[in-house]
Amino acid sequence: MDTSEKLFEQAQKVMPGGVNSPVRAYRAVGMTPRFIQSAKGAYITDVDGVQYIDYVGSWGPMILGHANPQVLRAVEQTMKNGLSFGAPTERETDLANLVVSMVPNIEMVRMVNSGTEAVMSAVRVARGATGKDKIIKFEGCYHGHSDAMLVKAGSGALTGGRPDSAGVPAAVAGDTLTATYNDLDSVERLLQANKGQVAAVIVEPVAANMGVVPPAQGFLEGLRALCDEYHALLIFDEVITGFRLARGGAQEYFGVKADLVTFGKIIGGGMPVGAFAGSRELMEQVAPTGPIYQAGTLSGNPVAMAAGITQLTYLNDHPEVYTKIEANTTWLADQLRALEDKYHAGTTVNQIGSLLSVFFTEQPVTNFAGAKSSDVARYAEYFRHMLAQKIYLAPAQFEAMFVGNAHTQADLDATAAAAEKTLAAMAN
Ligand code: PLP
Repeated sequence: MDTSEKLFEQAQKVMPGGVNSPVRAYRAVGMTPRFIQSAKGAYITDVDGVQYIDYVGSWGPMILGHANPQVLRAVEQTMKNGLSFGAPTERETDLANLVVSMVPNIEMVRMVNSGTEAVMSAVRVARGATGKDKIIKFEGCYHGHSDAMLVKAGSGALTGGRPDSAGVPAAVAGDTLTATYNDLDSVERLLQANKGQVAAVIVEPVAANMGVVPPAQGFLEGLRALCDEYHALLIFDEVITGFRLARGGAQEYFGVKADLVTFGKIIGGGMPVGAFAGSRELMEQVAPTGPIYQAGTLSGNPVAMAAGITQLTYLNDHPEVYTKIEANTTWLADQLRALEDKYHAGTTVNQIGSLLSVFFTEQPVTNFAGAKSSDVARYAEYFRHMLAQKIYLAPAQFEAMFVGNAHTQADLDATAAAAEKTLAAMAN
């Protein structure tokens, strides 16, 4: 029994499934999760001292690599003055200014502690501001675990086979309508059938929680036009795409304007931060200036703000990061596609920016049905082979691979070589 196995046994006695977030339990890949000791740059090391090339990146935040020296220094310096005050600090304004300067079409920001909170609050703003209750989301998109969003959800909910969670009141779920990703007609039908009742359409501008599914040409533009026509707000959930696709996220990358935007992950530099943002007109409807209540004891935490400011400042000052990580991810996707042909692997590789997925299906993956056609048992086999070769991937088919600034060409070469060995072995 290795150390991870021992620790997992103990963990399962006191925490459901031994974890604090379901996908970490490795159930989809039939293994014991690696317990982690430390991480640095592109590498993560488990409690038995095995070092892996990491493509999870804490599920997105670590775009500059783990334990970035500048981020650590900022955290260290800030924490000396105290961990939390429950009162305003200058750093909150600094991070808000930075976000507003980097992201198009937003004027004001409210900080929260997670992506879930950001989305939950943005949905409340949309409802409060429009006076309407219904929300349209897309099947297979994940927007955190608030009641209204756990309807046909992706990520861990999908992997666990429960995209509709127990414990969500039918009355709440009834106000969440689901459309098909990349299918504008499915959205229009819902808007038409629920005329005057839809507060917002919420979308992952790149779906990354059913695996990576880029928006088809014209899809996001079409959503914008439909929202305008039916007087609904358009919410971009940029918890993954924010500060990743580009400095200004998906709005900049695709040139489409959203009314409300949610952030998480990268904005906190590895600390628990989320945010929602929009025009002054919408955001001033939030308490204390407006009637839409939202609050948080630890929101705007000084240490978390320091980490976020440092990471975002670096990204803002180094736009070449985006060119590099996109080029590296495109290179890796090309290698994986070549292997697909060479070994008749029966895979489909989707990639955009620094996000990538290998689906174990031969059909193009443009929506949830395509993603669901994947052979999850074959993904699990692929995962286990890759882990044995010290490549740390997401332990589930319906997740993204995150490439970051710390991955070197040598790391990518090693990853492509491991994938070749894996697909060759799986072909036999
Ligand atoms: N929205 C999207 C697009 C996400 O990918 C996630 C998490 O993966 C969330 C919301 C929820 O964020 P958090 O896990 O920080 O609550």
